[in-house]
Amino acid sequence: MADAASTAPAARPAPATPTGLVPVLQVHPLTRCNLACAHCYTDSGPQASLALSPRRLAGCLEDAHALGYRQLAVSGGEPLLWPGLGGLLAQARALGWHTTLTTNGLLLDDRRWQVLAPQVDLVAVSIDGSPEAHDALRGRAGAHAATVARLSVLRRAGSAFGFISTLTQHNLDGMESVVQLAVEQGAVSVQLHPLGLQGRAARDLCDARPDGHELMAAWVEARRLTALYRTPVHLDALGFDQLEPWRDRLVPRRPVRLLSAVAPLLIVQADGQVLPLTHEIAPPLALGSLHDAPLAALASTWLDRGGGDQLVQACEIAWHDLRARGAGRHAALDATPGLHAHAEGDGGLPVDWFEEVARHSQRLAARRPPSTGWGADAWGWAPDRRLPARGAWPIGLSSAGRAPACPPGLSPG
Ligand code: SF4
Repeated sequence: MADAASTAPAARPAPATPTGLVPVLQVHPLTRCNLACAHCYTDSGPQASLALSPRRLAGCLEDAHALGYRQLAVSGGEPLLWPGLGGLLAQARALGWHTTLTTNGLLLDDRRWQVLAPQVDLVAVSIDGSPEAHDALRGRAGAHAATVARLSVLRRAGSAFGFISTLTQHNLDGMESVVQLAVEQGAVSVQLHPLGLQGRAARDLCDARPDGHELMAAWVEARRLTALYRTPVHLDALGFDQLEPWRDRLVPRRPVRLLSAVAPLLIVQADGQVLPLTHEIAPPLALGSLHDAPLAALASTWLDRGGGDQLVQACEIAWHDLRARGAGRHAALDATPGLHAHAEGDGGLPVDWFEEVARHSQRLAARRPPSTGWGADAWGWAPDRRLPARGAWPIGLSSAGRAPACPPGLSPG
């Protein structure tokens, strides 16, 4: 591994570059955390002990750079508890990457942050609705007030920060208080991220994932709050009317020869597992573990065995399924003119694209006979050869059309 400080820096994306327009490496270096939130999809907590070594992640980052990744999103566990954080962020910056850090904010202090601040472009601080809703989800009375008190550390350092809020089926009514708080505290944006059902969330909040109606309500509310408070409120969701124009970007062309083309969001878990797109992707589509091989080797083997093409198949099916469902939903809305006007005017009904792809990947994996190899079309899906040329991936698709505080797929830290 070359010394990051001696590596000639590439051109860094401008700070205003929307998240998702460059491939993102999302790193969860540890599962230890000072909280044990009900919605935690990484199963983090004070007793959790999974952690990656700084050396292994430094090698991963270098490989990811060679594979075309240009943004580092560090989450956790609580990343401020990981001893290698400063070194990893500095390495990313030396390579010219954009850097974000997701934190619950409770461990921010001036002395530590003065060292880290120059290495971080944007801090995503977790705020989940009203103080009462936040404390309930976080499992600690006073957690909301304690986090808000620590925001002054970021302001004193001149660090840009936004709020990231987990959207459940039950907490949309508290999001206005989050946006009000953002205005009061100087946060640059609010990102609403639909609850994912992994880890503790799958056990404790299995009925709290927002359904289609709740996502639609959130979509409308995000537009309203953006206009009312003049603060970008981003919902991690895809509008049905974005399916056609973004098709070439949502469904990359096969055969896949470049990892970042089909996995513009690459996740590294604290156990070393590397996953494309989302924590909920079907296990057969995981690249493997950094404990077994470096990222470069995992990526090469994955592409050779057809992992990229398999993932595109899941994207293709998700895209066709959504288009068909979208037509049906719009027809149904014709009977409700007011609601239809909202949906049309606000970009169509939203869906969680990553959840849709994950769901279809799991169905395909369940259908795949054990003896079937990883060759193209091994899952029996007829490829669509009419796909247009590949382009950049629109991870940053947004109800407000603005950059989110951190990439979709991150849980609040
Ligand atoms: S959601 Fe974030 S703050 Fe809560 S336990 Fe998980 S990593 Fe820690």
